[in-house]
Amino acid sequence: MKPSTHRPTQAIINLAAMQANIKNFKTYINNSTEIWAVVKANGYGHGANDVALSANDLVSGFCVSNLDEAIELRSHGIVKPILVLSGIVPADIHIAVNLRVTVTVPSLDWLKLVIEHLEDVETEHLKYHIKVDSGMGRIGVTTAQEANDIIALADNYDMVFDGVFTHFATADEAAQEKFEAQWSQFNAIVSALSRRPKYVHSSNSAAGIWHKDTIQDIERLGDAMYGLNPSGRTLDMTYQITPALELKSELTHIKTIEKGATVGYGGAFVADQSTIVGTVPIGYADGWTRDMTGFYVLVNGQRCPIIGRISMDQMTIALPEILPIGTKVTLIGQDGDEKITVDDVAAHRGTINYEVVCLLSDRIKRIYQ
Ligand code: PLP
Repeated sequence: MKPSTHRPTQAIINLAAMQANIKNFKTYINNSTEIWAVVKANGYGHGANDVALSANDLVSGFCVSNLDEAIELRSHGIVKPILVLSGIVPADIHIAVNLRVTVTVPSLDWLKLVIEHLEDVETEHLKYHIKVDSGMGRIGVTTAQEANDIIALADNYDMVFDGVFTHFATADEAAQEKFEAQWSQFNAIVSALSRRPKYVHSSNSAAGIWHKDTIQDIERLGDAMYGLNPSGRTLDMTYQITPALELKSELTHIKTIEKGATVGYGGAFVADQSTIVGTVPIGYADGWTRDMTGFYVLVNGQRCPIIGRISMDQMTIALPEILPIGTKVTLIGQDGDEKITVDDVAAHRGTINYEVVCLLSDRIKRIYQ
């Protein structure tokens, strides 16, 4: 779907803030670890191509979640290494190799399926990272034996064993036990490998921030690069980050309703007094979900409650006064002395900041600054 350019709803992405977030992270860890920017899910809603191009000089590679995301980056001029973090469809292996995209091997069974699809594949260019399931419980090998069987089988075809990695389930939590169990399990498997690849890596943002002594050859930097605290409000950040995304719109309609009048589907809002109602062109089809009723937006630096149900394309707010069509509305960002953060929205919804930004749909136009 193309973004809707003929309406005033926009996500404004501050690429300079994102670059500063990467630089500040580098200063914080103070070592030569390679940073690979995680730009899956359309760069956490910020726009994968623009984020990747602007981060390109500051990072050594990129991580995506599937082959299509990798293809998109390559078609937009990204030539640095790209790692697909989950197993691709085995029959698509030729696409990954032709584009020099590094694949994840999640199991020996997966590799055996890939081997059925190697006709015309230049296997000496097939770079892979073995995924170790050290406790996340999704994908990956759980024993050194399986990892070594993968290496031995891949060697028969001259594939390149480029990396081994794991992913932590609780690096963003105060409790340490699960993290430490995963860390030692991963290290035990890595030390029992028949050989060490170029890259051993385990850190996401949270591990890099709160367990920086465990960072290995690559930091897979996602949430914190976008200026978001991966723990939400649980743990304090250890260095300066600046949120890179604001969400803004404008009033498209203003009216006064009398006591007893209703607004929106289900007539769920009933005015208990004369009320000035403004309409904003954003709805659940934009990722501004129905549970945002009861939250607020900013107009002229003042909080205005969201009233009535969120529709697919519009929502309604209560205004303190009659205002002109075109008046700015801030859904995420600063207006005067007031600010709404992604974490404020996440807290209202009972979710995490990741989900709020990832859900912002393609219909929302992204403006880059
Ligand atoms: N590594 C893997 C395997 C992931 O799945 C993700 C994100 O989900 C990341 C790294 C980046 O995590 P974060 O955004 O918390 O930095």
